[in-house]
Amino acid sequence: MRLTKLKLAGFKSFVDPTNVELPGQLIGVVGPNGCGKSNIIDAVRWVLGESRAAELRGESMQDVIFNGTTTRKPVSRASVEMVFDNSLGRAVGQWSQYAELSVKRVLTRNGQSDYFINNLKVRRKDVTDLFMGTGLGPRAYAIIGQGTVSRIIEAKPEELRVFLEEAAGVTRYKERRKETEGR
Ligand code: ATP
Ligand code: MG
Repeated sequence: MRLTKLKLAGFKSFVDPTNVELPGQLIGVVGPNGCGKSNIIDAVRWVLGESRAAELRGESMQDVIFNGTTTRKPVSRASVEMVFDNSLGRAVGQWSQYAELSVKRVLTRNGQSDYFINNLKVRRKDVTDLFMGTGLGPRAYAIIGQGTVSRIIEAKPEELRVFLEEAAGVTRYKERRKETEGR
């Protein structure tokens, strides 16, 4: 699966609907301090299921919703959508049949959080399942943030094993076994 588009609306500083096309293998995002570069990565981790506000540099989850500026009123909902090319059919299970996959999360100020895959309402777990074992996840190694390298270098053996199992694609089977055993 290859990420082709990222669509944001009402998410942090991206108040107006913003479509980011990702045409190549290597994309650089540049801009002055505070222009929203890190917010893009926060958006990716959020749509993948991040549930801790602190991981997204906020105090509460509602902090991801555009909260206004001196010239703009706050908005009532945030949404982020990631679009993947799945023409090789690599996505797991029922999703393998779609040439394109859209993963979307919407949050409203009253706390309603919804996930969608190809506009079908799904559970958070369906989204995490889709990416499990791929290295892409809210805290998986596909996103190397500031401090991640030292976190890996300084990891205890049991923590390091979690990274290695994700890379080897074992996580998916371990999760399924846990579910089966009702743990
Ligand atoms: P740097 O180069 O310093 O790392 P950056 O480009 O990574 O900067 P970000 O951290 O992505 O910048 O963006 C910070 C900006 O996003 C701040 O101006 C902040 O006010 C704005 N911002 C964050 N959350 C919200 C929100 N909920 N509503 C409106 N603006 C927000
Ligand atoms: Mg930054």
